[in-house]
Amino acid sequence: MILKTVGLILRAIKFRESDLILTVLSRDYGKIALIAKGARRPESKFGAALDLLTLSELVFYEGENLKLLKEASILNDFRDLKREYERLETALHAASLLNHLIEDEHPDRAVFDLCEDFLSHLGHLKKLRLGELAFKLKLLRAAGLAPRLNRCARRGHRLTSELWFSTQHGGLVCAECHQAGDARIEPGTAQSLKMLLGTRWERLDRLALYDDKLEIAHRLVDEFIGYHLRDVRRSLTCSRSSPQRE
Ligand SMILES: [Zn+2]
Repeated sequence: MILKTVGLILRAIKFRESDLILTVLSRDYGKIALIAKGARRPESKFGAALDLLTLSELVFYEGENLKLLKEASILNDFRDLKREYERLETALHAASLLNHLIEDEHPDRAVFDLCEDFLSHLGHLKKLRLGELAFKLKLLRAAGLAPRLNRCARRGHRLTSELWFSTQHGGLVCAECHQAGDARIEPGTAQSLKMLLGTRWERLDRLALYDDKLEIAHRLVDEFIGYHLRDVRRSLTCSRSSPQRE
């Protein structure tokens, strides 16, 4: 069966003499693995369409055990974000997160649109670390894993200015519910997390968060991702065998 989609190249691994195995976040089929035969030959028909962080139109053959790429053409190479190391690094972090957080072959248009939108704006965003934090939070939300920030994540209490962030309970917790291991968080930092979730990329540079608080927020969100990633992985290993790659 021949299929066509639009996909973002997240990862490319050398395979056999001249092939590549690509991890692609596709619009219509979710995260998929594609084999691109001869892609590492200098005269490869795929050209730059398989470069990392490139959005390409992809035509592939769906076989029993593998997906074989037939054609690829560039739609957006996100050149602006590849001109500066810090921007590229931010985009690569995002790609790595997608690679780990997003389940294989589960189409999710919200995740795809979020990524395309983020990369389109990343080329001219001024506050890169803030943008990266917003991406992590928006991706968690798109994947159905957003931290609870409006009410106490443990027992639904109203939140006051005394706040903790509980990875285990999935968000902010109140003075009554916090436990050993929860991190105290300033109301301003908690408010910023909420605002980042609701702010469009065009307006992101207008938000302000001090560097130290920004790094604390990154650390909390990273811990949260790490914790819930374990859950995602566990449920994946239980429910499905890993896709065959050869
Ligand atoms: Zn509570």
